[in-house]
Amino acid sequence: MSGKPVSNLPPLPAREGGTTSPPLATEDPTPAPAAQAQAGRIGPGEGSTPVTMHMIGNAHIDPVWLWQWPEGFHEVLSTFRSALDRMIEYPDFCFSASSAAFYEWVEQVDPAMFEEIRARVAEGRWEIVGGWWVEPDCNVPGGESFVRQALYGQRYFRQKFGVTARVGFNADSFGHHGMLPQILAKSGLAAYVFLRPGPHEKGLPGRLFWWESDDGSRVLAFRIPFEYCTWGQDLENHLRRCAGEIKEPLTHFMSFYGVGNHGGGPTRDNIESIRRLNGAPDLPRLTFSTTTAFFEAVAGEGWPLPVVHDDLQHHASGCYSAHSAVKHWNRRAENALLRAPASLNYSINKPRPVTRLRGHNHATRPAPACAILASSVRSKVVRGVWVRCYMERENVYHEKTDSASGSVWSGARNIRLRQQRQFYRRPRRGNH
Ligand SMILES: [Zn+2]
Repeated sequence: MSGKPVSNLPPLPAREGGTTSPPLATEDPTPAPAAQAQAGRIGPGEGSTPVTMHMIGNAHIDPVWLWQWPEGFHEVLSTFRSALDRMIEYPDFCFSASSAAFYEWVEQVDPAMFEEIRARVAEGRWEIVGGWWVEPDCNVPGGESFVRQALYGQRYFRQKFGVTARVGFNADSFGHHGMLPQILAKSGLAAYVFLRPGPHEKGLPGRLFWWESDDGSRVLAFRIPFEYCTWGQDLENHLRRCAGEIKEPLTHFMSFYGVGNHGGGPTRDNIESIRRLNGAPDLPRLTFSTTTAFFEAVAGEGWPLPVVHDDLQHHASGCYSAHSAVKHWNRRAENALLRAPASLNYSINKPRPVTRLRGHNHATRPAPACAILASSVRSKVVRGVWVRCYMERENVYHEKTDSASGSVWSGARNIRLRQQRQFYRRPRRGNH
């Protein structure tokens, strides 16, 4: 059992035939009970093609949720340290992590650990996924925010690691608007991984499908079975449930594991249980792997996959009406930040207004800032900590809106000054 090195995902060709492609078996609208999965032969591999289960080690990290950002910051540091330690202990172990913001935190405070990560990325065992600045809410932010997520995220990864992510990754976003395939594909992200909405919230023709937006752009999308993280030490039950989701003609599948939400990542017990279960006669072949390796494998199979041309909705729709002020501040900040570069561009007559805006500090990056903040829009519950986060968000939103509004104001002033100068420099005709 060995982790397949992450190589460049070859371009995933759009299948001819569109919606006429014969669909895979319809996904069961309700999760298969563990007992049911255990009862029968798992997957399509019996007596024919062996099935490979790609084990995706990850540690879903909410940088802000029931805690404020300093705690999220420490989550990232401790989780990444743990993943690096597991790589030393288990030479075949692989780990996948998104969010350029997290990597930048490590770079700023622990350069030695950052170099370790760079070495593991080069080795192919640490997979950079997502390609965005953070994993944001995928409904509320405007289009410019999503584009800039990829612009800054992929640029950072290319500068620091010499690679860009090939797999979009928003494991816990509460729905995904239908224009994302276009934004993903044009950002170099050929595939996409998500969890919500679940099968009980939106029926899909399969866990693996082409997701298409209105312009015809497609990404190969995979809905994570059951959970992106695991809480038990032994993964047998989780693995059997995931294996029960494999339908014809798939011979590759993914199972996500590792302690998550507040970080953590794969534990020694998790890894040991995968090693122990590999080779079990009623389970697929298990391999420590990456999402990129999985999509490379399925792209090479040439299966006719169904096409989904739709939003991926709805999950927890109540979150989009709760704490409406946060959404209001986000949109105000986005609008102000969109106006600011245009105003500066016109007033200083130079094509570099964004650079000037970025010059202040991390917090004043234009649209990623909106998207970063939008990552906390999912207001699941109201508790003391969340209220503090809420107030903190308000301050940051106002800071960004004020900063952008100030830029718009100074831009307008410069335009006025330039008009005045042009007026007084104009040759005048004498009266005599
Ligand atoms: Zn989350």
